[in-house]
Amino acid sequence: MTYDVIVLGLGAMGSAAAQHLAERGKRVLGIEQFTSPHDKGSSHGGSRMIRQAYFESPEYIPLVLRAYELWRRLEKDAGTRLLHITGGLNIGSGDGQLVKRTIAASTQHSIPFAVLEGRAITARFPEVFPLAGDVAVHETNAGYLYPEECIRAQLARALHAGAELKFEESVLAWSSERDDVEVRTAKGTYRAGRLVITAGPWANQALDGIIPLRVTRQVMAWIQPKTGVMPFLPDRFPVFLLEDPGAGAHGYGFPAIDGPEGGMKVAIHGSADLCTPENVNREIHAHDLQRIVEQLRIRIPALDGEVLRAQTCMYTMSPDEHFVIGVHPQFASCSIACGFSGHGFKFANVVGEILADLAITGSTSHPIGLFSPLRFCA
Ligand SMILES: Cc1cc2nc3c(=O)[nH]c(=O)nc-3n(C[C@H](O)[C@H](O)[C@H](O)COP(=O)(O)OP(=O)(O)OC[C@H]3O[C@@H](n4cnc5c(N)ncnc54)[C@H](O)[C@@H]3O)c2cc1C
Repeated sequence: MTYDVIVLGLGAMGSAAAQHLAERGKRVLGIEQFTSPHDKGSSHGGSRMIRQAYFESPEYIPLVLRAYELWRRLEKDAGTRLLHITGGLNIGSGDGQLVKRTIAASTQHSIPFAVLEGRAITARFPEVFPLAGDVAVHETNAGYLYPEECIRAQLARALHAGAELKFEESVLAWSSERDDVEVRTAKGTYRAGRLVITAGPWANQALDGIIPLRVTRQVMAWIQPKTGVMPFLPDRFPVFLLEDPGAGAHGYGFPAIDGPEGGMKVAIHGSADLCTPENVNREIHAHDLQRIVEQLRIRIPALDGEVLRAQTCMYTMSPDEHFVIGVHPQFASCSIACGFSGHGFKFANVVGEILADLAITGSTSHPIGLFSPLRFCA
């Protein structure tokens, strides 16, 4: 059988692309090397932050606003809760990039926020001990998503709309000629008019290295707060980002979303060891945990508590840390989405919508100029 579109990789972005394409009546084949969701790529660990005050660049804000709409729609269609609003707290020096850029981006796009300084921070969040000169930007509409549930829901909607999905089948090679794409796996060869490549940390292999992506090993830890979990329950405590006064790596974390025994998930966003999906060290070492605890307890001393568990995950970094989304620079019948640089999950459904646009019409009305793959191709 010939398909309209083949989607290579059914993680966060690929499951969304398969959903949107199938819902638009396309004959879709999705191919995934593992089962999905799984814990070997970039989309596991029980929670992903979603926020509108996008300090990385205000250009993401129209997309994230659309993502909120699409997550709410998916919740309705799937009959399950995926997105929880807790508010979000970005804390850093009043002169630092995190605070200044959060305020600038929010102001530009009328994103609701409040600025707290000094004692006002501790008055509202008694577990937070700001450093001298710290300012906190509290964003009303930030919260978290359940990533595995989101992927499950996207795949279920894709199937419901008629997509064919194959699991535990690796794509070994693909080729493209005008409107004819051929995809070879260990189990067969498939043809389609279009190919969408959403291979996450395997993008270097799937794209033959045309985009200079770096894959990094990230560690997530679940810590039981020393002072007990009550002040950190999600109806009292927000998702948070803490600017590192020194090395430029932010600590971040979530309220205690897994109940009294589940701890709080915390991690560091910033410099990390390079790896590949094949050689990533999935063991957790004492120094991994020490680095996280030392960074987080500076402003939230209760996080110097018992580490309940920890897990590795991978980021796929683009050189400028902005996403890479667009038509393949060499093959017009192929679209790519990769290089999500540790902040892509919240956008998965709108990326799926964009990939469906690109596969069907070759263009999209969404603002994706910042993400052009051509910026890395001489
Ligand atoms: C620790 C951590 C914390 C994060 N926190 C946040 C956050 O708070 N908020 C946020 O928005 N983002 C966050 N991110 C980033 C976000 O999770 C990722 O950007 C996003 O999940 C990437 O999705 P993806 O579809 O590109 O990759 P994946 O979900 O990994 O999917 C790629 C899929 O392609 C499959 N595949 C690859 N090659 C082949 C092949 N040859 N054949 C068949 N299948 C193949 C893989 O098996 C995989 O399932 C975080 C990431 C990590 C690691």
